[in-house]
Amino acid sequence: MNRRETLQFTGRSALGVIRHFLPGKSGGLLAVRWNLTRHCPLACVYCGAARKPQEHPELKPTEAMALLEALGRAGVAEVSFSGGEPLTRPDLPALAHRAWELGIRPSVNTSGILLASHLDRVQPMALVKVSLDGTETVHDALRGKGMYQKTLCGLQAAAAAGVPLKLVATLSRENCTIQDVAHLLDLARSLRIRALFQLYHPHGDENGNVSFLPEDKQRKSVADFLGERLLHRDSAVDNDYFSLRFLRQDEPVAPFACAAGKLFAVVEADGSILACDRVGHSAIARFDGRDFQWEARMQRDSLACHGCAFQGSLRLNLLASGWRGAYFAAVTTARELFAASFHG
Ligand code: SF4
Repeated sequence: MNRRETLQFTGRSALGVIRHFLPGKSGGLLAVRWNLTRHCPLACVYCGAARKPQEHPELKPTEAMALLEALGRAGVAEVSFSGGEPLTRPDLPALAHRAWELGIRPSVNTSGILLASHLDRVQPMALVKVSLDGTETVHDALRGKGMYQKTLCGLQAAAAAGVPLKLVATLSRENCTIQDVAHLLDLARSLRIRALFQLYHPHGDENGNVSFLPEDKQRKSVADFLGERLLHRDSAVDNDYFSLRFLRQDEPVAPFACAAGKLFAVVEADGSILACDRVGHSAIARFDGRDFQWEARMQRDSLACHGCAFQGSLRLNLLASGWRGAYFAAVTTARELFAASFHG
């Protein structure tokens, strides 16, 4: 981001947080993950996105552009294009360019297997988040044979083209191991990028299947390992102490009611808005082709879900919790650093 874009992004974010604390229908919707499509060339074992694309008809390019304009008017500061595989949408670069013009910072979540052949679709992004699960054996077991090498090719092509990259690993029972995490950190370091480790969410997949959740001891040992790496100033680790503290709890749940649907939300492929797609919420708003029709007045603390330790959600939930959140983050982080310094 250049200086003007940074100022614009910071200004819109600050306004969104202020609006969040004021009464109003759309609160201060600040960040949106937009599942542009349900289509995906992969069929990863823990993801239901590609299984039912027919149940989520997609917006046409003109409709998608109109929805983006509405997000701009709603004051959204950050949009993360996701899916399915968003690189399958030819209108992705046009949406990203227009997002910049509207003062919205665009990023994209991708499996990376189309990166090498579709570099033009990610060039305008502020950040490209590439999912990688661990070593080649583990990644291919979860995503299909040969997929690790395809993603690696994509990463190398994008890095050579100067695309801003981040590795994102969702830690499930299969890959919540020191070996996989260390492998991803080594790869991130070799590409001079960072790696973020997210916990497989506690509500399971679309059918509530929780068999992929890591065991407690797996989760805690990986959190300890990452904490240790942070203490040794490993610049490849993108997690912070605060989120790692959650991963080390017996039950990794946030101490706040979640701000999903208020500060952040999910736009589905058909244009409906969900508070969160990890838990079974009904749509809180629908796009009528020009603007959002809010189904419900979004009230602070109306969503009583505390159930995930996703770092992005945690950070935004801290913001939504005001001074209480800032105090909690500062105290827990200081306590962790203090305790860790004795072990180190
Ligand atoms: S805590 Fe919030 S973001 Fe996490 S699953 Fe619950 S509603 Fe979704």
